[in-house]
Amino acid sequence: MQAPFSSIVPGSVVPPTLRVESELHDLRLDLRRWFEKNDPGPQPFEYEARMAALTRWQRQIHRAGFVGLSWPTEFGGGGMGLAAEAVLCQELAATSMPQLINRIALYTWGPTILSRGTPAQKARFLPGMLDASEIWCQGFSEPDAGSDLAAVRTRAQVSGDMLVVDGQKVWTSRAELSKWNALLVRTDPEGVRHSGLSVLIVDMGSPGVTVRPLLQMLGEPHFSEVFFDGVEVPLENVLGGLGNGWDVSMEAMAYERGLFVLERTTGLRRRFADLVDRLDALGKIEGAVASLGVLESKLDLLDAQVLRTLGHQENGTLVPGSSSVDKLFLADVYQDLFATAFDHLSDEGLDDGWIHDLLESRSVSIYSGTSEIQRNVIARRLLGL
Ligand SMILES: Cc1cc2nc3c(=O)[nH]c(=O)nc-3n(C[C@H](O)[C@H](O)[C@H](O)COP(=O)(O)OP(=O)(O)OC[C@H]3O[C@@H](n4cnc5c(N)ncnc54)[C@H](O)[C@@H]3O)c2cc1C
Repeated sequence: MQAPFSSIVPGSVVPPTLRVESELHDLRLDLRRWFEKNDPGPQPFEYEARMAALTRWQRQIHRAGFVGLSWPTEFGGGGMGLAAEAVLCQELAATSMPQLINRIALYTWGPTILSRGTPAQKARFLPGMLDASEIWCQGFSEPDAGSDLAAVRTRAQVSGDMLVVDGQKVWTSRAELSKWNALLVRTDPEGVRHSGLSVLIVDMGSPGVTVRPLLQMLGEPHFSEVFFDGVEVPLENVLGGLGNGWDVSMEAMAYERGLFVLERTTGLRRRFADLVDRLDALGKIEGAVASLGVLESKLDLLDAQVLRTLGHQENGTLVPGSSSVDKLFLADVYQDLFATAFDHLSDEGLDDGWIHDLLESRSVSIYSGTSEIQRNVIARRLLGL
């Protein structure tokens, strides 16, 4: 196992940044010890076997009491602050442990349900997120509604105590594994753009749901097209109230960019250290010093930025749109790191790990909103342009 980075030290940050308090130092040490003892080693190459292994891995971490550290104990969480959750993200990524498979639930929809859900929804949906017995996906994008999310056309009509859903989503990550889909639909046919939308929690096993996996350039069916043909969803599965889908979605997106960006940033720092070691071993550091310096500074800034976002999340002061800065910056650093590796290592031959990460880095400026859209949001909402 690789030593975690010194820059993420307890108490190294100031408010409103999320303070990784010194009492969490014990949690950090507990996690490191537990990972050392339970390191599952290399994951299976084959996609389905790897997904199954990742599900078992999350279950194992959950049994050890480390998943959902900031969630209320009544739903199976640890009852601690968001900083505890941040420590888990950092330690997982810094020690190159496999990811938690149910991250869409843990980082995005769990917090949204905690904020907007009914007591019945919290009791029903949160525990299965933690132990990975119920995997979640997110159905926002459609063939004609990606960047322009307010153009969603998938519709749901009220019929008695049910909603009936018809339409199509695309690029739904992990759809084929999921039990639940947080689905953005138009519930008011008269509603224009952002009004008349709702978020429904849809059982992916319902009659009328068809999942058609799509192959990425990495050769894996990471996401799918999902078709809804007269799918019945109980009205009690509307999240945050009928017609409030836009607000609910924007809140969910803000959560998505907190812990997820922190985990990715920590993982990038580990890959940065790998790159430095490799260049050093090859005697190529001198030629790369300038790019490495820029990268290290960017990683420091990204760390500071995401801890600030998480601090606002913890305090309930997150300004809508502000997490676009984190997402934009993450995409920039991600692509810069692997492009730098390619520039300096391609003569020596890049191994599969570097090639995988280089290809994957291209998707970071697309998913969860493209970099162009993040710039638009920053210009309009943060800078008032
Ligand atoms: C790996 C991966 C996983 C994903 N997972 C999910 C998921 O789980 N759930 C989900 O709902 N979606 C998911 N997506 C979809 C993702 O959110 C969309 O791809 C993204 O929002 C862009 O939408 P689009 O593909 O329709 O492109 P388009 O919106 O058609 O955009 C095409 C290009 O035009 C640019 N553009 C569009 N409008 C503007 C504008 N106003 N100003 C400037 N430039 C503009 C875009 O930046 C882009 O470069 C995933 C995507 C990827 C790559």
